[in-house]
Amino acid sequence: MKRYFLAALFLPCFALADVHYTLEPLPAAKSLRVAVQLEDAKAIESFRIPAWTPGMYVLMNYQDKISDIKATDAEGRPLHIEPVDKRKWVVTNPSKGPVTFSYRVLGDDGGLGFFGANVRDDKAFVNGASTFMYVDGRLTERSTLRLKLPAGWDVATAMSSQGTEFVAEGYDEFIDHPIQLGKFVRRNFTVEGIPFEAIYVAPDNKPRCDVDRETERLRKQSIPTVRMFGGASFKKYLYIIHLAVGDFSGGLEHRACNVQAVPNLKPLNLDTLATHEYFHAWNVKQIRPAVLGPFDYTKQVRTGNLWFAEGVTDYYAYKHTYASGLFDSDWLLSSLAAQISDYESGQTRLTKTVEDSSRENWENGGFGVGDLSYYTKGLLIGWIFDAEIRKATGGRKSLDDVMRTLYARCMLPNPGYGEDELIATINTVAGTDLTSLYMDMVRSTKPLPYDRLQDIGLMVIKPGEVIPGSGSKKANRYSVVRDPEISPETAQRLAGWLAR
Ligand SMILES: [Zn+2]
Repeated sequence: MKRYFLAALFLPCFALADVHYTLEPLPAAKSLRVAVQLEDAKAIESFRIPAWTPGMYVLMNYQDKISDIKATDAEGRPLHIEPVDKRKWVVTNPSKGPVTFSYRVLGDDGGLGFFGANVRDDKAFVNGASTFMYVDGRLTERSTLRLKLPAGWDVATAMSSQGTEFVAEGYDEFIDHPIQLGKFVRRNFTVEGIPFEAIYVAPDNKPRCDVDRETERLRKQSIPTVRMFGGASFKKYLYIIHLAVGDFSGGLEHRACNVQAVPNLKPLNLDTLATHEYFHAWNVKQIRPAVLGPFDYTKQVRTGNLWFAEGVTDYYAYKHTYASGLFDSDWLLSSLAAQISDYESGQTRLTKTVEDSSRENWENGGFGVGDLSYYTKGLLIGWIFDAEIRKATGGRKSLDDVMRTLYARCMLPNPGYGEDELIATINTVAGTDLTSLYMDMVRSTKPLPYDRLQDIGLMVIKPGEVIPGSGSKKANRYSVVRDPEISPETAQRLAGWLAR
């Protein structure tokens, strides 16, 4: 009785503090109409559009797509709006009554929409940061969303719904749930008891691929990560597959969803791309540098640890695609060898560290600096640490334990990890001090010590070198082969590394 009374007492207060959004696609105008309503507005309220979208570390110009800005009071009377800078509008609200701030967003992002919004006759896609402004000082308040849709339009989003509204606990979460509206093909499946959804969106509503076959592959490759972590922080997960490529081909991660833009082909070959974006639901959305949530949307946020956020994610993209049973161990070794080739063919690695490439990426397209990608070097660093931890612990621990430790420690709403916290965690798991290896790989431009991979029975063969166990055959590219003189102890570690 008392509990119900308290709930009834407090509920209206929470509702008052919510930020209410309304979204209406306007297909004829290839636009979206967005309204932000504040029931408890102050005399001055500031509305801002983010300067970037989490997951893509490049400044965006979302403000260029925004027009027809209006602010009204509870009676519909116009309120004064002052543009303060290109991404911020200040509304004067002398009566301190409710405020409705609304604007139009041009939905012309390339393909079917990726970092921005795309509106077509029968569908629309919204990447939250491009479309929903936030209210200064109210980022942590609950956000609600009401959709006004043309008749017959479907909705796909991982955001929770309550009645006719969608609800997120704060703006960070709100814009981390992209929204697909209109016509698309939907499939459902379950992974370890968690409901999953895959939607296939084609401009002409005709996916060329075998949708059931592709969905079965997504199901299989979704299993290893959730098993490795022993669970997930999402209650449901959504794959949004855009079968059209605009300005960007690839994927973008979200906390309970990912969006992939690929050509409308048969087959789609999503495997490592899908696994990479999916793994991010743990590594980068939960295990993350402190600056990557809560976010400062007004400017670039720099961290030296994107090699871990992206590169280690890519390492697991290969390992878990293999672990899903979709490919064999030869595929895994040749895929990782291709990463070595890629890295070694670059020149920037000789002058910049992987931390430099993480910090300077904002000015260099979001993947690294010059031809040094923190994806590639980060993958190789993760692999070498995995081998070292397995050796140091007699095969009892691995990089998986580092990931699990960080997951338990960083899971939202906990803060992300500090800039020097990764090596501390690696050392704790390894039970030995690997700091000098860390300094060499992460904070120097020294050659990567591939010989350490022999600790898990793998040999890296350079182009022109004789391939062990092949007579006199020479490698014509970087290759990774099993050590023909492997000791029983190392063979056990290799078996552990390849276990699935
Ligand atoms: Zn990524």
